[in-house]
Amino acid sequence: MKKKEPLCKRCGRCCRITPPSLLMEDIILFDKGLDLGDFFTIRVGEVVWDNLEDRLISTVYELVKIRGDEEGQCLYYNHDRKACTIYEMRPVQCRAFFCMAPEDFQRTFERPKLTRREIFQDSPGILRLIEAHEERCSYVILDNMLKELETGGDQVANDIIDLLLYDKELRRLAEKRLDIPARYLDLILGRPMETVLKYYGLSLRCSEGKYFLQAQGPLGKEAPA
Ligand code: SF4
Ligand code: SF4
Repeated sequence: MKKKEPLCKRCGRCCRITPPSLLMEDIILFDKGLDLGDFFTIRVGEVVWDNLEDRLISTVYELVKIRGDEEGQCLYYNHDRKACTIYEMRPVQCRAFFCMAPEDFQRTFERPKLTRREIFQDSPGILRLIEAHEERCSYVILDNMLKELETGGDQVANDIIDLLLYDKELRRLAEKRLDIPARYLDLILGRPMETVLKYYGLSLRCSEGKYFLQAQGPLGKEAPA
């Protein structure tokens, strides 16, 4: 007798765990009406939770992902109806994912990924903003500073604080001076570096007008933004 192939039970668990990232071929979804404000960027070198490996990793790719809610559930998932609200337009990774056959998804993940460069190819001003931001506060720079923190003392701590404040200020200026709505900034500039600092066991604090870094407790699994 022919072995029965497992079927998707449409339980929605995969939509509730972590939203997908986009591949190059998903760029047409924006022409079909998906809102750029529903997406955010994970920048090269950023620390993220890897669901395939079930651990924190430093990503080697830039990834454009659908935003999640506070619990990490995909923004487009309707919990009551247990359904995808953009089913006909769902990204390639969602079409490929089947929990009983993760190899298909892994193969898909290896295909060219969509980046900010393609999304904003017709907006040179935004591309310049992205470049200026990466030049001054990439995660590679932050990572190198953090490695020096133990031996470098206050000077390195101050350099890290300057970098975090630059990231903060650039977002404020983009909104106020360039009229970029705040909800697009997590896509254009990635998540605020201050919020990602928790993955490094640190947080940025301010007391009486002075900023300082504070060490956090051990890290657990965090829901994606
Ligand atoms: S792929 Fe798996 S986790 Fe996702 S809906 Fe289907 S059965 Fe549920
Ligand atoms: S886009 Fe749809 S199918 Fe994909 S994770 Fe979100 S809710 Fe699920």
